Amino acid sequence: MIIAQRKPLEEIKEMVASYEKVLVLGCGTCVAVCFAGGEKEAKLLASELRMARQMEGKPTQIIDHTIQRQCEWEFIDPIKELVASVDAVVSTACGIGVQGMAERFEDKPIFPGVNTTFLGMPVQPGEFVERCQACGDCILDLTGGVCPVARCAKSLMNGPCGGSQNGKCEVNPETPCAWQLIYDRLAKLGQLERMMEIMPAKDWSTSRDGGLRKIIREDLKL
Ligand code: SF4
Ligand code: SF4
Repeated sequence: MIIAQRKPLEEIKEMVASYEKVLVLGCGTCVAVCFAGGEKEAKLLASELRMARQMEGKPTQIIDHTIQRQCEWEFIDPIKELVASVDAVVSTACGIGVQGMAERFEDKPIFPGVNTTFLGMPVQPGEFVERCQACGDCILDLTGGVCPVARCAKSLMNGPCGGSQNGKCEVNPETPCAWQLIYDRLAKLGQLERMMEIMPAKDWSTSRDGGLRKIIREDLKL
């Protein structure tokens, strides 16, 4: 899922400083799971903004609402009237949701309430870790299900680099070396011979550096 972090209150306060009626719009999926922008966090942000404005002697109408996903029209469209009733929206969805809202409500200022950070998962309570860089050409079948693109500091396709110490990465000793993880996993699978296979240069044309990406599924078109 997409992992995000709440922006500092000061930054959000500044964005909406000139608006009288503001909607804090939560997103009930990824950002709810990572406790950055779900219903609870949207309510909390709305009340922090209300208090901050009151303390500055500039009381404002700050309301909150949460929809299941801000990245699908079917969830965005039903709040048309609510959005029309405010001067600006702080979206606590990831960057996809913020842009979805901005695309649907062209004349309404939509501000980001979180920093979209990475594709990852909670590995234990309070700890979220990156797992995927959405490179568009998955090689997890070759690496025992451990992604060197996302998890090796150098995104090495043929590792390790020679710098790992005691299973940790030389770039950050607190991070497990991705290629050690790949080795351990292949050993458990009885496929260690795979370590000897040279992976060809990766085709990065499917990754982000090729510009805006798009998938067209004719079978799903109406
Ligand atoms: S808008 Fe972003 S955070 Fe919300 S459900 Fe969609 S991808 Fe997840
Ligand atoms: S030590 Fe391991 S994870 Fe770190 S850069 Fe080298 S191969 Fe990649």
